[in-house]
Amino acid sequence: MSSLRDISWDQYQAFSLAQKSGVLAKGGGPLHVLLPQQFDRANLDSLGELATSIRFIAKSKEGSLFLSSLLPHKRAMLYFSQPSTRTFLSFLSACQILGLGIGEVRDPSTSSEFKGETHEDSVRTFSSYFDLIIMRSKIGGLAERVAWVLSHSERPIPVVNAGSGSDQHPTQALLDIYTLQRSFKDIGGIDGKTVVFVGDLARGRTVRSLSVLLANYSKVHQIFVAPPEFQIGKDVLDLLTSKGLSWELSSDLDSVIPRADAVYMTRVQDEWDEGAVKKVDISKYCFTVDKLPLLKSSAIIMHPLPRRNEIPTEIDHDPRAKYWRQMRNGMWVRAALISRIFECDHEIEAYAHAKR
Ligand code: ASP
Repeated sequence: MSSLRDISWDQYQAFSLAQKSGVLAKGGGPLHVLLPQQFDRANLDSLGELATSIRFIAKSKEGSLFLSSLLPHKRAMLYFSQPSTRTFLSFLSACQILGLGIGEVRDPSTSSEFKGETHEDSVRTFSSYFDLIIMRSKIGGLAERVAWVLSHSERPIPVVNAGSGSDQHPTQALLDIYTLQRSFKDIGGIDGKTVVFVGDLARGRTVRSLSVLLANYSKVHQIFVAPPEFQIGKDVLDLLTSKGLSWELSSDLDSVIPRADAVYMTRVQDEWDEGAVKKVDISKYCFTVDKLPLLKSSAIIMHPLPRRNEIPTEIDHDPRAKYWRQMRNGMWVRAALISRIFECDHEIEAYAHAKR
């Protein structure tokens, strides 16, 4: 299979997701992180271990100094043209942990895009000053296009998809997997667990990406609980079926909670509403306090955040509520990913090994 720089944009677009990830994995170019399909079980296991090593090393001043000495010669551009709090700040913190310099464009009205510059020219400009582009856009597939454009330029720097359209959010899925790995460490790991997704699954990109990553584990059963308007896309279900994974659809949260090892709550993604907005009643899809007794003691509650009323704050005090920890895990996983992109991951593992 050819690498990204050997193929035309039309050829790339015509590829299946599996073919795309094959092209992206092909050596010779930088390591772009664009699709969840790029990650297999071995990558997920080692990325989790690396994140844990970074978390351990960063606890001491000496360790923090070591980490920040790894990449002071690299700079990252955070190009976030769509709103973000956690993803932006955790990438920023991850860069700081590893000593990278940082630039940011969060509001295209303050950049030359306002003067009519194309996204492509903007990112070519970024690539002249920076060594990594971390980007979020409401345009689905834009990160892939940017990676392809840069692969055909003289400065083919790596691109990380920090959320694209309503289709993918691969790094959120990586931190979700890390949260599941840590939570199930003493109860057999992720294999064989039941994950219940709840809310707006049609437009929730975090659900789409995580569901795909879970297909790397054996016998994970996925239950999608949503009103019919917000039910998960057929493309995700077809992929799970093709990988031999079991799934079911439901609209009755109470009846599935007792079987859950993880309940993954989401908000209504109404920024994607088009035309006349149809009011959907989601009160049945909120994890209210009365549902806590239905949940196993070993199960966890997750949420990519921000939340609205789908999880009341009273739930935060329950030890099974993991969404704040999940959010912090994002910083460690993103630092692990960046260290892997710049190939200083082995140094980190060697340091952690020597200190343990
Ligand atoms: N923060 C997540 C995202 O960017 C989830 C959300 O916004 O609901 O997709």
